[in-house]
Amino acid sequence: MGNKTFVGGWHVWSHKELTRDAAIVAAPLPPRVVIPLAQHAGIVCRPLVKAGDTVLTGQKIGDAEGLITAPVHASISGKVTVVGDALHPVLGSAPAVTIESDGADRQDPAITPAGDPRGLSRNELVSRIRAAGIVGLGGAAFPTHVKLSPQKPVDVLIINGVECEPYLTCDYRLLVERPDEILDGIGLLQRAVGVEKVYIGIEDDKPLAIRTFQKRVSALKLPFSVVPVEVKYPQGAEKQLIKALVDREVPPGKLPFDVGVVVSNAGTALAAAEAVFQGKPLYERTVTVTGTTVREPKNIRVRLGTSFAELIAWCGGTTAPAGKIVMGGPMMGLAQFSDAVPVVKGTSGILVLSTAELVLPPEQPCIRCARCVDACPMQLLPYAMSLCAQMKQAERARVYNPSDCIECGVCTYVCPSKRRILEHIRLLKVGAK
Ligand code: SF4
Ligand code: SF4
Repeated sequence: MGNKTFVGGWHVWSHKELTRDAAIVAAPLPPRVVIPLAQHAGIVCRPLVKAGDTVLTGQKIGDAEGLITAPVHASISGKVTVVGDALHPVLGSAPAVTIESDGADRQDPAITPAGDPRGLSRNELVSRIRAAGIVGLGGAAFPTHVKLSPQKPVDVLIINGVECEPYLTCDYRLLVERPDEILDGIGLLQRAVGVEKVYIGIEDDKPLAIRTFQKRVSALKLPFSVVPVEVKYPQGAEKQLIKALVDREVPPGKLPFDVGVVVSNAGTALAAAEAVFQGKPLYERTVTVTGTTVREPKNIRVRLGTSFAELIAWCGGTTAPAGKIVMGGPMMGLAQFSDAVPVVKGTSGILVLSTAELVLPPEQPCIRCARCVDACPMQLLPYAMSLCAQMKQAERARVYNPSDCIECGVCTYVCPSKRRILEHIRLLKVGAK
């Protein structure tokens, strides 16, 4: 019997060989950072500093009232030069704090180790994680303290170590380089959620990560199950991982806690450990900078607010003009309109595609081969939604539930007629057809 998995999906070309063996390196301190006040799902922070203020690394510079939000912190020490709208890799433009570095990287003295976190209550753990501005680092940037306080009883914590997006390897490198800190973080998340069962899902094309975790879990006698899952895209999507690991189906429109599960990314567990053990706010993260034309693709620990352009230059630039820069991977990433955008909490990768890689063959008529149907992880009828969109029949398409589409892009990837199925579905979802 093969490893655990879900119905549908596809084996996509991974391109991970570009950075799989590239150990994480720290980027030089940037001379200037632009830190958006909206780096998470939920309410945008209000600035707590003004132009002319001096700030320290790790100092809180933005926060908001309300449940679904997370504070933001200075990632370098220096002087605030601007508080106002700036480029944003997801929103286009958003309020941000610009800081010019003093080159000293002076840390906020408020950042101190918590001592022994075993003495902390569940509420104290959650509030430390909120205070550190921890959000899901897999890309969705949902505030972690909210996930840790589910509105329904849960009995399972799943740690997502899958990283199924092609090209990206930053989570893989964290798994092999910092397993004990990740395990510490998983223990904290387990206590914060109050569950006994913990599953760590890792795709079986990462044997070193699986072996490393199995050995450490066994050596430390931790009550966690390390579960290899089949290599298949989108294995790392929440609903698909839950199905693979605990055989529960999250109904359309529902969330993991509706089936008793909380899912957290492995990198998020590490950030939680740093927040609770060291008191360190989330002001840096690991990012994969990659692409076939990038001279030295790397996994880099980066201060938030560093521009994409600086990181690409630090990787030696490119051997050909960039045709497209994507935040994230090629399947679910976001194409950027400028390389001046800053790294935010949700930036897992910076993918540079050359103009030659962007040439798309012309779309052909659907030949009803049903490949897209077989591959759809949500058991939808992608071809039918695509045809409705092209015929401008949004009303008729509603019967096919386009809102259940998780925009994984597998249907487009597998279509022999090169139909831009996901583009069509997105148009249906925004009601543009
Ligand atoms: S219809 Fe949506 S969920 Fe299904 S394969 Fe296409 S993009 Fe993925
Ligand atoms: S994969 Fe393409 S050609 Fe085949 S049924 Fe789907 S849309 Fe039609």
